[in-house]
Amino acid sequence: MNPIELNKRQEDILQIVKENGPITGEHIAERLGLTRATLRPDLAILTMAGFLDARPRVGYFYSGKKTSVKMTDSINKLKVNEFHSLPVVVPETMTVYDAICFMFAEDVGTLFVVDKNEYLTGVLSRKDLLRTSIGTQDLNKIPVHIIMTRMPNISYCERKDSLIVAANKLIERAVDSLPVVEPHAEGLKIVGRLTKTTITRAFLSLAQNV
Ligand code: ADP
Repeated sequence: MNPIELNKRQEDILQIVKENGPITGEHIAERLGLTRATLRPDLAILTMAGFLDARPRVGYFYSGKKTSVKMTDSINKLKVNEFHSLPVVVPETMTVYDAICFMFAEDVGTLFVVDKNEYLTGVLSRKDLLRTSIGTQDLNKIPVHIIMTRMPNISYCERKDSLIVAANKLIERAVDSLPVVEPHAEGLKIVGRLTKTTITRAFLSLAQNV
């Protein structure tokens, strides 16, 4: 990773922390004649880049850690459990027409399909539904299990998985979302939804979580 180029204010902050750390964000801001809110993005960058360490109720102190090590540490600690959203699930018997309406109503891009025992059997994406709508079939007569991508071809993740592993599955399979599942002897119970938005939210949290 290339060394990060710091701006003048970030250099000033580093100097203050080197000389006075541990020091709170408020005190750094006071010394610079700025508000804590103004400094927040700079402190986030310095912490993320590994120049500073932050301890709750103690403050910032200078860290000798290498940027790449600190970044990798932070990213590897992110777990699916902390970020996934609620799953949106439909029965295999639902018609394609109703699934389209449901997808609009729920404002999601992927529906997960379950059997009567609530185990995962399939995935329906926007294009799966669109493809079927292009034809001349009666959408009220086609159940979603006819058109869905089905098990065992579904890529999924578990709550305990690292977000990096899940992100890699999204990219490798070129899909928008993964069901978050809990394996049972009889099948997979769906407990969440992990999407590209989830990864974006996690990415943002890395910069804000200071
Ligand atoms: P879209 O097709 O609307 O852009 P995706 O890229 O997510 O959405 O889906 C592409 C294809 O992959 C669809 O046929 C869909 O059923 C299937 N698919 C979506 N998610 C998964 C998944 N987690 N595992 C396996 N196949 C999936």
